Amino acid sequence: NSALGPHKGGLRFHPTVSLDVIKFLAYEQVFKNSLTGLQIGGGKGGSDFNPRGRSDREIMRFCQSFMTNLYRHIGSSTDVPAGDIGVSGREIGYLFGQYKRITGKYELGVLTGKDISWGGSLARVEATGYGCVYFAQEILKEAGDELKGKRCVVSGSGNVAIYAIEKLQEFGAVVVACSDSDGTIYDPKGLDLKLLQEIKEVRRERLYKYKDTHSHAEYRKGSKVYDVECECAFPCATQNELTGEDAQKFVAGGGRLVCEGANMPTAPEALTLFREKNVLFGPGKAANAGGVAVSALEMQQNAGWGTWTF
Ligand code: GLU
Repeated sequence: NSALGPHKGGLRFHPTVSLDVIKFLAYEQVFKNSLTGLQIGGGKGGSDFNPRGRSDREIMRFCQSFMTNLYRHIGSSTDVPAGDIGVSGREIGYLFGQYKRITGKYELGVLTGKDISWGGSLARVEATGYGCVYFAQEILKEAGDELKGKRCVVSGSGNVAIYAIEKLQEFGAVVVACSDSDGTIYDPKGLDLKLLQEIKEVRRERLYKYKDTHSHAEYRKGSKVYDVECECAFPCATQNELTGEDAQKFVAGGGRLVCEGANMPTAPEALTLFREKNVLFGPGKAANAGGVAVSALEMQQNAGWGTWTF
C-alpha cells in the first residue's frame, strides 16, 4: 500500500526469521499502519542472524554487512525500516552509520527508532508498550472497569514488555510476571521495573538474574507467564506464543482481558476460546500501533529538522 506513503515497518534479527514470517508481518503492518491514520505503507524485513551472546563489535559488523545490501532498497520516500525483535537503538545506530558511509548522505528519514541525540523522537521507545496499555484501559472503560488493582502478566522483557509494565504500574495494576525465551520471573509483590531495566537495557543479561537480588521472586525455567493466574495478560514477546493450552489456563484462572503488544502473539485456537468465553481482546494490529505511529512522527520531525516535546 505504498499509495499511502513510504513502506514502514520493523527489521527483525532472530533465528526464527524466514520469508514466511516476514511476509505475514508485512501483511499485518499494512493494516496496522493504515489504522494510525498517518501516511505510511506497510513493510517488514530482517534476518535469521542470532544476536544472542554476540559482542558489540560482532553486532556492529553484522549490521554493517546487512546495510551494505539493504541500502539500495531503502530511502525516506521509498522504505523506512525501524526496529523489531533483536533490533534496538544500538542496531539502528550501526545501520545508519553504514548507510551514511556508503551513500555519503546524512539522511535522517531513512530509518526510525534513532537515538535522541541524532534525530530520534522522544517517546519512540516507550510508545508500543504504553500504547498497548492505553488501549487495554480504553477496552476496560467501555466495560465500566479499569486497570487499577488488576493482577497482570506481561510476556517478554524487551522494549514493548518493559514499557507496558511501566504504564501498567502507573495505572495501579500489579504486574506479577514477565519472561524471556528461557523462562518466567514470578514476583508476587509486583515486578521491580528499575531492576528489570538494569538487567535488560543496561547489562543486556538474561532474566534469571532478577533472583540475584530479589530472592523472594521465583524463576520458573521453561515456563510461560500464562502459567501464572491473572486477570489481564499482555503478550509482548513473539508470534503464536499464546497457545490454545495457555488460553485454557488463562480462562480457568479467571482471566478477563488480553491485549496484544507483540505482532500476532495469539494462536488461532486461543482466539476461538477467547471469543467463546467473552474474553476482552485487543488485537495487535490496533493495540500495538503506537510504536509505528511515533515512528511516523519521527519522520515528520526529521523532515522539518526539528524535535518535539514528549
Ligand atoms: N516493529 C514495530 C511494529 O511492528 C515498529 C515498526 C516501525 O516503527 O516502523 O510496528
